[in-house]
Amino acid sequence: KANSDLGQNFLIVPDIIERNVERAELSGRDTVLEVGPGLGVLTDALSRHAGKVYAIEKDPRLVGILRVEYDWPNVEIIEGDALKVEFPAFNKIVSNLPYQISSPITFRFLRYDFERAVLIYQLEFARRMVAEPGDKNYSRLSLMVRAKAYAELVERIGRGAFWPRPRVDSAVIVLEPKPRDERIELNEDLVRALFQHRRSTVLSSLKKSHHMLGLSKEDFKRVRGILAEVPHAEKRVFQLAPSEVRDIEEFLSAEGVMC
Ligand code: SAM
Repeated sequence: KANSDLGQNFLIVPDIIERNVERAELSGRDTVLEVGPGLGVLTDALSRHAGKVYAIEKDPRLVGILRVEYDWPNVEIIEGDALKVEFPAFNKIVSNLPYQISSPITFRFLRYDFERAVLIYQLEFARRMVAEPGDKNYSRLSLMVRAKAYAELVERIGRGAFWPRPRVDSAVIVLEPKPRDERIELNEDLVRALFQHRRSTVLSSLKKSHHMLGLSKEDFKRVRGILAEVPHAEKRVFQLAPSEVRDIEEFLSAEGVMC
């Protein structure tokens, strides 16, 4: 029986598996990380196209099945939580992700250097990943992804492609980290503080969330006047591009408002 607490919806359409393996552009030189191999359908295809596959699975029952059912020469099953276990070295990621960990696992991936990731997410989440500044669903996730990577939604997948059938549709995202010198490192506390009020202007959001920047009431009174000069003050938070958030960050640290 599938465990819905672990987001166990298994792919049952071979075409989708083949297309995702193709999108990963695999060769014998590639080492692939897979999060949540489940019953191994994707893992099996990956093992035929890549040099090495590391598959991290949290459910010990499934790990047991994988070890008995398959005898892959180039696959290593790692039993554990993909949010916690140390990642081995890899250059590509291909996964049908458990939806409960979509957000933290994506942020974790973005801290690594890799060439390409082909990932299945719930449709709504996938749409947020590719949302552009000003879109109605542009969020903290959209901004953080955009700061580090190119993301493209390449295919929508109906719920009938999985067993058990989930309540919502899914989508395939291809993620490619930007070259190092184009990536924008952002202060996560500032991004969180801003997106507490995503429809407000930058100025009003910073005022409302000043405590999240470590400012006490007294500090806040002291810097009130400075804040009025913050770059992009009148823009709405959901319209900010990563480079504009960096402008704000640079201003706040130059003015000693935030370190
Ligand atoms: N790859 C398989 C497929 O496409 O049929 C299964 C995908 S299913 C959506 C997600 C898988 O992730 C399940 O096997 C589940 O047990 C596993 N999983 C859930 N949470 C996990 C975690 N924190 N770390 C590693 N695996 C996890």
